[in-house]
Amino acid sequence: MKKRLVIFSSILFLFGSNSLKAQKIEIEPWKYNINIELIDSTLLINLSIKATKAEAGQKEFLLFNRYIQIKEALLDEAPLKYIRSNDTLYFEPVRNEITLSMQYEIPCSVKGYSKVVASYGDSTYAYPVLFDAGQIFCERFNKWYPVLYDNFSDYDVTITVPKGHKVFSYFPEIDCKYIAEEVVYTYHYYDEDFPFFITPTGIFQQHKEVQHNNTTYAFYFLPRARRLVYVSDNKPVFVSDIKQIDSLLSESINRSIAAIDWYNANLWHKEIKTLSFVETDILGLGAGLGNFILMDRMLMNMEAIEKYALSHELSHIWLGIHTAYLAKGKFFMGESVPEYVNLLFYESWAGNDAFEKAIQDKINLTLFEVPFYAVPFERVLNQRKGNAQADEIIYHKGVAFVHEFQKMIGKDKLLKIIRETYSVPNHFVTLKDFENNIKANDCWNEYLKLYAIDL
Ligand SMILES: [Zn+2]
Repeated sequence: MKKRLVIFSSILFLFGSNSLKAQKIEIEPWKYNINIELIDSTLLINLSIKATKAEAGQKEFLLFNRYIQIKEALLDEAPLKYIRSNDTLYFEPVRNEITLSMQYEIPCSVKGYSKVVASYGDSTYAYPVLFDAGQIFCERFNKWYPVLYDNFSDYDVTITVPKGHKVFSYFPEIDCKYIAEEVVYTYHYYDEDFPFFITPTGIFQQHKEVQHNNTTYAFYFLPRARRLVYVSDNKPVFVSDIKQIDSLLSESINRSIAAIDWYNANLWHKEIKTLSFVETDILGLGAGLGNFILMDRMLMNMEAIEKYALSHELSHIWLGIHTAYLAKGKFFMGESVPEYVNLLFYESWAGNDAFEKAIQDKINLTLFEVPFYAVPFERVLNQRKGNAQADEIIYHKGVAFVHEFQKMIGKDKLLKIIRETYSVPNHFVTLKDFENNIKANDCWNEYLKLYAIDL
């Protein structure tokens, strides 16, 4: 994701791997039954939880966004007694197996043109939860629904939406049933971070499907009478001719497929059955969300292809989604490295000169027309989001440092280290993993040299 997705994963490190395994065996998946009413922006939640109480008298606690007020909460059909503080909800289960039911409403305030009616944040990060009357983006599941703090459990999730709506989810759906006026989607998740997106299907003007190398690419385009082709002298140039718009969309389809092929060949092969690209106008950015790519309409254009924004999001299917650095609000592993790999793909079709220019642009920051400045590697590694220069340092300076490293060790070696670092299944990637693989590939001395330079 380009800007805002923050994934909560640091809790994993509080527990040893042995206790994790032992608990896993005993605990059934949590069962979430989520009924989403779109008309009055009310979410009705029913949770069935089967959990084993660790010790008598020990309080269970759940992660749950403090900004969502609970309307009604029942524990085994009696009112739930709980304490809330910040992101957590404490309660004391009386039995080993519990059933928790909850109802709550999202507080709404319409913010004019953008139709954004709700957006949540806490003291450290902004967690946007955006929706208009039709489209809902649920980022970070634990901000919308209570999840067990220790994350021992898997989740069985059903999401019920009115007919004519579709759910796109981080993990593939197991089942989709049409019952009366509703559609019921079923999922099985192994971690608490499973963003999903709900949208009416009628709003898409074009739905294109392309079959390529065992993958179905499904594109959902919003109706647009004109689309941006490029920006010339700071002026946007649009096309409104249907044929021109069509070829523009074809170009974004072709470039996306080419990017997937390149990542498959140069990172590692991923079996992808269906990959959906969903256009929206409520997000303001692109997001690579595993099973689907959310693209703001501003990115469905030639400019975005030229600036490799689409392929950046696609790189996240391989890299950067599960990184401890994202969890801690640091983005070198989660954004700078994936963006550099995206640049290597860019080089494969735009050529070496274009690649070198892109790197120079990043070092000089001409993209954002701010005065030249240099930062040390340490700053890049510790860069959080939030201040004015954060994105420049993460997406430009950080990438320049990866390039500097590549110049010393070569592309093949760098890609090998990246493969070895990021390809471990269900593992939250840390800088330590990266550094261990750098050592294992005899590139440690080159890596240390990064600390001595400013870029
Ligand atoms: Zn990104």
